[in-house]
Formats: sequence, C-alpha cells, structure tokens
Amino acid sequence: ELVIDTKNLQKRYVTDTVETTALAGVDLKIAKGEFVAIMGPSGCGKSTLLNILGMLDSPSDGTFKFLGHDISRATERQRAKLRKENLGFVFQSFNLIDELTVEENIALPLAYLGVSKADTTKRVQEAMERMGIAHRRSHFPQQLSGGQQQRVAIARATVSNPALILADEPTGNLDSVHGREVMTLLSELNDAGTTVVMVTHSPSDAEYAHRIVNLFDGQIVTENVNVKRHAAE
Ligand code: ADP
Ligand code: ADP
Repeated sequence: ELVIDTKNLQKRYVTDTVETTALAGVDLKIAKGEFVAIMGPSGCGKSTLLNILGMLDSPSDGTFKFLGHDISRATERQRAKLRKENLGFVFQSFNLIDELTVEENIALPLAYLGVSKADTTKRVQEAMERMGIAHRRSHFPQQLSGGQQQRVAIARATVSNPALILADEPTGNLDSVHGREVMTLLSELNDAGTTVVMVTHSPSDAEYAHRIVNLFDGQIVTENVNVKRHAAE
C-alpha cells in the first residue's frame, strides 16, 4: 500500500523577473511503514517537496497521490480534510503556541477533528506518556528545554494517530544528545506503523531511515537503502 506516489512532480516559482525551478520532475513512491530521509544541498528543493507532500503547497505539474487520493484533482477543502486526518508535522523550530500549555498544544489537532472532551483527555495523556513529558503538562513551551519542546511537538503531531509524519530538520535546533532522543522517538513511532518522511542535513539522523533519497537541482539523483536498518529487522 502506497502512502505517497508522485510522478513527474514539478514546481516553478515565478517572480516578476525570474523563474526558479524548485522541482524538476520527481518520481517518488513511499510505502506504508517506511522511514524515508530526504537529503541534498541547500536550495535543492527539499522544503518544496515536503510542502507539496504535506499538501501545504501545490505542484505546477505532475501527479501526486496520497493514500490513493489524487491530490492534483482535489479541492482545497478535500486537501484540508486529508491533512487533518492523516498528517502530522514536526518542524525544526518546534512551532508550538507559546500562550498554550503543553497539554493544550497537544490537544489542538483533536479539537480540529471534533474529538470529544473525554476522548481528548485520554489521548493527550497517552501521547504525553509516550513522549515522557506528562510531568510537564501545565508548563508553557518557553519553560521547557529544546529537547522537551520537540517531544511536545511530536506528541502533537501524533495524537491524532496520523498515517504519515512529515519532519523538517527535526533535530536542527537540538544538541546531539537531545537530537538522538528525538530520532529514537521517531523510529519508535515508525516501528509502531507510522510512515515517516524526514528532511535532514544530518547523516547521523539519516541512519535511522530505511531509505535515503538524495535530491540535487530539483531531481532525485540517487537513492540508498540503509543496509543497517534493513539488516536489523
Ligand atoms: P531546500 O529546502 O533544499 O533548501 P527549497 O525547496 O527551499 O530548497 O528551494 C528550492 C529552490 O526554490 C531554491 O532555488 C529557492 O530559492 C526556490 N524557492 C523556494 N521557495 C520559493 C518561493 N516561495 N519563491 C521563489 N523561489 C522559491
Ligand atoms: P531534558 O533532558 O529533559 O530535555 P534538559 O536537561 O535540557 O532537559 O533540562 C533540564 C531541565 O531544565 C528541564 O526539565 C527544564 O525544565 C529546564 N530547562 C532547560 N532549558 C530550559 C530553558 N531554556 N528555560 C527554562 N527551563 C529550562
């Protein structure tokens, strides 16, 4: 079963004077349960690709199927629904809401889905426990270390039990110890069945992936299977 299936995906940005080709024909298939790392130099199109896969942006050309749905033909409303029900985002800068507590931040995706209060309490509690942050439930993001903030962000990204987590440089603002902690949590979620697609500059983070896709000038130039992760299974 494919979570992501793109064919000849293209993205051009046009400003008054220049046209930039950010994606120049990307064919990418990602099966359910995979952990894929996307790597490549700055400006090669990684963020653009992740934004399109996350339905935050639309391709200029090509096709994109998400869980069998043809996204190129979907309306904005249909895309928003697919996004809320199936996607969790993790960012380099955590993107938590400073005015809300840990617990309230994590509950947000469930509020958008209209989950009942009792069910929300239960699922937020489980997510906090999985991430080891239940004792910080009433703290505000600024009262937490970077590692803790990212664990809150991962709890928020997974509380709705999405099919896919998209992570953009999830360890970019963390020291190596907390970075490894976050990568371990992401692999545990992956082991439990969630598909993970991660953009990273860090070769040690990419070690956690099953497959590494290398982008250059908006195209996939090489793909490597991570022998260590496959051999370990
Ligand atoms: P990466 O994430 O690998 O650094 P990006 O996807 O951010 O690469 O960018 C790919 C190319 O598209 C770059 O040349 C960048 O300058 C250009 N680009 C990205 N976003 C925009 C935008 N909103 N408008 C114009 N050009 C953009
Ligand atoms: P952890 O290993 O749990 O991520 P750290 O070792 O980074 O936590 O921090 C230890 C404790 O210090 C944390 O539980 C946190 O409450 C507090 N702390 C760390 N950084 C900050 C900060 N920038 N502002 C406020 N409190 C912090």
